[in-house]
Amino acid sequence: VLNAAKDFDFFYFVQQWPGSYCDTKQSCCYPTTGKPAADFGIHGLWPNNNDGTYPSNCDPNSPYDQSQISDLISSMQQNWPTLACPSGSGSTFWSHEWEKHGTCAESVLTNQHAYFKKALDLKNQIDLLSILQGADIHPDGESYDLVNIKNAIKSAIRYTPWIQCNVDQSGNSQLYQVYICVDGSGSNLIECPIFPRGKCGTSIEFPTF
Ligand code: 5GP
Ligand code: 5GP
Ligand code: 5GP
Repeated sequence: VLNAAKDFDFFYFVQQWPGSYCDTKQSCCYPTTGKPAADFGIHGLWPNNNDGTYPSNCDPNSPYDQSQISDLISSMQQNWPTLACPSGSGSTFWSHEWEKHGTCAESVLTNQHAYFKKALDLKNQIDLLSILQGADIHPDGESYDLVNIKNAIKSAIRYTPWIQCNVDQSGNSQLYQVYICVDGSGSNLIECPIFPRGKCGTSIEFPTF
């Protein structure tokens, strides 16, 4: 066959709030390139099936090769920073995302450059921090109603996001990740065919970073 069948239905585009990644029992480490901007960062672009299952690690013959994305690295450092410990440049995180998720999208985003570029373009298209601040929702350590956070994003992008929360060291529920669904071609935002699981409080903290 000329084209492998597309083996997934849609993408989750997932952004993380660094303040919430860091404000946990486990804490975080800033990248070797310095403290990231106080902005949402990309976590990943994940192929998913409509029934909630997802493929992973689809092509062992396509190892991460940073030389294919050298023109994207400065933008990746800015928009896709790693906060895991120990501190790293980002390549470990990006390599993990490519090998686990990107290799499962190769029928659509046919190489590493196309995959990482698509995620960066989506981040550029969906400026979550501006959207929230425009609705007077700020990373100031205060708590905001989950429904207000969701409505602000929905009004701006026209589709319903999913909010994933984590808990800080005192056990408060906080805004950790935002999931937005993208169609299988990677071109259009869509309503999510299925939402992830997980609980948030009705009011959640938006920590500083
Ligand atoms: P966690 O269990 O921390 O939510 O997720 C761990 C990892 O599993 C994520 O970083 C991601 O790689 C993968 N994962 C979790 N939930 C989903 C999902 O609903 N769809 C996809 N494609 N991957 C997921
Ligand atoms: P997932 O499998 O959930 O897509 O990706 C999570 C993996 O990437 C974990 O192994 C985690 O340690 C690593 N990682 C590196 N940097 C980060 C980061 O900034 N945020 C998250 N969520 N995971 C990171
Ligand atoms: P509803 O569909 O009535 O808005 O919400 C049903 C349940 O799902 C409620 O417990 C609500 O708190 C929860 N929920 C709604 N939206 C989200 C979300 O984006 N993230 C999380 N974690 N829970 C949500």
